[in-house]
Order: sequence, then C-alpha cells, then structure tokens
Amino acid sequence: MKNIVLALDFDGTLYPIEKFDSEQLLALESIKYKKSNEDEIKVFIDHDKRGMLLPSQFNALYESFLSGVDEKSVYDAIRHIFTYFDKKNLESLKRILSLDYIRPAILSCGSDVLINAFLEEAGLDYDFHILAKEFTKTGGKLDHLVYHVKHIDDKKSELIWLKEKYDALSVAVGDGPTDKSMLEASDYPFIITWGKKRENFGFEEIENFDELEKKIEEIASTISLC
Ligand SMILES: [Mg+2]
Repeated sequence: MKNIVLALDFDGTLYPIEKFDSEQLLALESIKYKKSNEDEIKVFIDHDKRGMLLPSQFNALYESFLSGVDEKSVYDAIRHIFTYFDKKNLESLKRILSLDYIRPAILSCGSDVLINAFLEEAGLDYDFHILAKEFTKTGGKLDHLVYHVKHIDDKKSELIWLKEKYDALSVAVGDGPTDKSMLEASDYPFIITWGKKRENFGFEEIENFDELEKKIEEIASTISLC
C-alpha cells in the first residue's frame, strides 16, 4: 500500500502568524532574561520583519540573543501563539495525522525547540520527521544553534528523500516564498491562507486544516488508499 508524506512548514502554516513569528516571539521573551539587549532585539525584529537580514545574519544575532536564556522562554513564546490561535483548529489535523497511511514531517527554516514545544502544547503527539535549526541546551538554558537547514532547497531535498524512504506520494503545505521549492517538488502542493489574502505562487489555496482534511480524503480516494 502506498503512503502519503505530509510535509508541513511551521511558522505561518501550522499556526497563523499574527504580529510576530515564533522566533521573533522567542527573541522578545529573552528580554526578560537579558534586559540589556532590549533595544538591539527590537531593531533585530524590525529588520527581520522588513526582510533586511540574510539568513546568516539572522542566525548569528538570534543565537547571540538566545544563548544562555532559560528554556522556559520557549514555552512562553509558544503559549503566546495560543492566546490568539484556537487549538480547535488543530482537530482536523489530528484526524489527518491519525490516518495509517500518513507519514508526517515538519520541514522548517525555524527552530526545533519552538516546533517541539508547539507540538507538545497543541497535543500533536505524532511521529513527525523534523527538519529545522537545532538549539542545543546546557543546564536548562539555550546554548548553540546548529544549522541543519542551510538553504531553502534543503526542504525540497528532504521531501524527495522522505518520498523515496516511504515509497510515498507527497502532500506539502506552506505559506510563503521559502516553501516554494518544497511545494514544486510535491505531488499535491497547497498554500494555507488562514483566511488572509496572500501570494499563492500559482499553487492551490486552502484556508485551514478543515480544507486540508477534505483534500487529503479526495487524494486518498483517487489513489485508492481508502
Ligand atoms: Mg512559513
């Protein structure tokens, strides 16, 4: 029987971004621990929002601000997301993830600690394959960043590798330009909008996980998975 690799981006895809993405929220949380960085962090977030930082510049600053910060800050950042994002939105995703032919993956340019805390808070206890930047921890504090995602095409290569590993078709869901290569390499690509108008890069739009559930049912019936 064929499997379906379900490849999801993290920020903006697993949850809608309101004002700040998860890494910006974590940088803001770090001010509690490193008050002297407050002004620099606000400038860093402003520059990030305006797309002024190269990934290497972003990562170096992000690591310098977060290094030595208590890992509790990760959970505080994620809890902020759930102050505006209703966890009920994830019920459809849980039903999708419970299907025996689904092989779930999160392919993200974001941070593994934030992704894992999100999955825990959301009750998404499934066997995800995760590609993301890794924050090492020492004594309950964030320490160093390890860049597993060096190029946006890494998401595409990981998806192709997963498809081969599971002899699977692929459904990919993203929300922005860094997902383009992954979506292009997918059999069934979708842009998730969370009800907002956004650039879809020519891919089919879905509003939320309710719509994704319907799409996956259609795909599974087309390829006789159920
Ligand atoms: Mg995104």
